[in-house]
Amino acid sequence: MRIKGIEIPPYPTDEDHAPLLVDLGLADVVRAGEVAEGDLILATVDERGVDYFNDQYTAHPKPHDPTCECGNCCHSIDEDRPIANLGDDNPWDVCDWHLADCLLLIVRAARLT
Ligand SMILES: [Zn+2]
Repeated sequence: MRIKGIEIPPYPTDEDHAPLLVDLGLADVVRAGEVAEGDLILATVDERGVDYFNDQYTAHPKPHDPTCECGNCCHSIDEDRPIANLGDDNPWDVCDWHLADCLLLIVRAARLT
């Protein structure tokens, strides 16, 4: 399967990855800065390919605060490019932030039923 010219590998079915609860055929590749409330986040996408998170989670984007004490935002303190913070309501309980122009594999909230 290809999305926007990017080869999308099958979701891993190993013990490190929670079962995928959605049809990958619903997925789209968007920039982190384009993620909206309720979108389901599946993977990061870069020149090395698609790197699936070990669980999917629902994004709740919020303003990024490098002084946030979640334990992950502190790693962004020297980053001066725009950052998209997709929230901390995920299995890891820390903010999942990405450079706003990085690509992510997601399922839009509107396609989740
Ligand atoms: Zn944080």
